[in-house]
Amino acid sequence: MSQPVISEQAQGRGATEHVHVVIVGTGFSGLGMAIRLKQQGRDDFVVLERAADVGGTWRDNTYPGCACDVPSHLYSFSFAQNPNWSRAFSPQGEIWDYLRNCANHYGIMPHIRWNSALHEARWDEGERRWHITTAQGQLTADVLIAGQGPLSEPSLPAIPGIEQFAGKLFHSAQWDHAHDLRGERVAVIGTGASAIQFVPRIQPVVGQLTLLMRTPPWIMPRMDHAVAPWRQALFRAAPFTQRLVRGTIYAQREIGALAMVYRPKMLHSVEKQSLKHLAAQVPDPVLRAKLTPKYRMGCKRILLSDDFYPAVSQPNVEVATTGIREVRAHSIITQDGQEHEVDTIICATGFHVTDMPIAGQICGRDGRSLADAWRDGPQAYYGATVAGFPNLFLLIGPNTGLGHTSMVYMIESQISYVLDALRTMDRQGVQAVEVRATSQKAFNAEVQRRMAGTVWTSGCASWYLDAQGHNTTLWPGFTFEFRRRTRRFDAGSYELMPR
Ligand SMILES: Cc1cc2nc3c(=O)[nH]c(=O)nc-3n(C[C@H](O)[C@H](O)[C@H](O)COP(=O)(O)OP(=O)(O)OC[C@H]3O[C@@H](n4cnc5c(N)ncnc54)[C@H](O)[C@@H]3O)c2cc1C
Repeated sequence: MSQPVISEQAQGRGATEHVHVVIVGTGFSGLGMAIRLKQQGRDDFVVLERAADVGGTWRDNTYPGCACDVPSHLYSFSFAQNPNWSRAFSPQGEIWDYLRNCANHYGIMPHIRWNSALHEARWDEGERRWHITTAQGQLTADVLIAGQGPLSEPSLPAIPGIEQFAGKLFHSAQWDHAHDLRGERVAVIGTGASAIQFVPRIQPVVGQLTLLMRTPPWIMPRMDHAVAPWRQALFRAAPFTQRLVRGTIYAQREIGALAMVYRPKMLHSVEKQSLKHLAAQVPDPVLRAKLTPKYRMGCKRILLSDDFYPAVSQPNVEVATTGIREVRAHSIITQDGQEHEVDTIICATGFHVTDMPIAGQICGRDGRSLADAWRDGPQAYYGATVAGFPNLFLLIGPNTGLGHTSMVYMIESQISYVLDALRTMDRQGVQAVEVRATSQKAFNAEVQRRMAGTVWTSGCASWYLDAQGHNTTLWPGFTFEFRRRTRRFDAGSYELMPR
């Protein structure tokens, strides 16, 4: 297939350009999809990116201490292994560079439309194509692949009075590096995966740190370490040695799925290890009690840190656990009536996961948006296709998230599925595919049936659950099962509309 010829006018200011495939996003999902399309000799695609650089999560999250918490040798593309990772858990800047290098190396940059947020995508049933409006203009596409990321829309807490706060307030995913925290009274709301990475970095710098923690997380030792130069040299000289390391990490991590999905009791011994880690690092019994989790390990994401507990044990840190009543111009009032005076509030309060804005912008066959279709909670078929939305493929859609291993593994599984769908369409002369509602329903019934008995339904509140309390976020099984089941596009589960 040939590269689309795009006139300057068609770049957005006038005529409507047509391409075979539009991909949204340049994180691991969008870039991975674009690279695999290119490798298959498919050039007729455009990637829409609302920002001015690639990288997604790893471009946006620049808070101090940001790093992956799945080892880099696994948290990377299988087809683009990087022998030069500097650490077991590489820092944000290095992962961002890796993604940039991938985009350059595989020739994806010319396909990307920068500052081109998708505003609306509307399926035209007569033409059997997508009409897409972006920040830079219009285009049409046969196929739309949405890789906008499940953790790309920062969520700010709805606390009474927060809009009256007169100090500085920002989300951890939108870190304000121009703002100097030195000597300030800083409040951090939330103690999830981001907060436990940046709290140890800001604690020595700030004057006073108030950590507002609703639920103490389970924390395990991180055991991060530098990758020795001789190992990097070995990986460069003999790439199979790195694949071996990757395979070993993968296998070890799948034990996490065994525990969380099938044998939650296995986690009891891990809970003991975590409590030992806490006891070793927090001698003060009062603080230790505050930091002791009261739900089953694994119900929320298990966090890794060697420096969070020592940081919150310092005299300039106060851990408040009673919840927030209101925010005033210069303070936060907690439920126990205490007033905490603060200059800056940092919200480490996560993302819009089950209510992502793009769902309101994609409208399918009957003009209904994904948000409408998902009124009772997000649902898809293998997290990829949705009844009523022909030729739409989601990357890391509902029920493809993981609590134990690399999301890149799931992303690559889904990419193979989409590629096979496109091949099937070409081979069979099909213009559009749409998953049957019955197939989608049966799949989701299976997923929800399998959720029962997992650690995620053991009674904690978490971002894995939608407004109805269903876990529409995670895949309830081994990742190799997901890969096996998505290896081929199962055309039998779809309506195929001929050209
Ligand atoms: C701080 C942090 C640490 C993490 N660590 C790990 C880890 O260690 N291991 C792991 O497996 N996972 C981790 N994750 C999850 C991580 O999000 C995924 O692993 C992965 O990076 C998701 O890639 P993605 O391409 O799907 O989404 P993203 O990386 O979020 O990329 C989405 C892209 O789409 C663009 N976009 C969104 N909406 C639009 C629109 N309307 N129009 C145009 N462009 C749009 C965004 O600008 C962005 O570039 C982490 C997440 C966070 C936030």
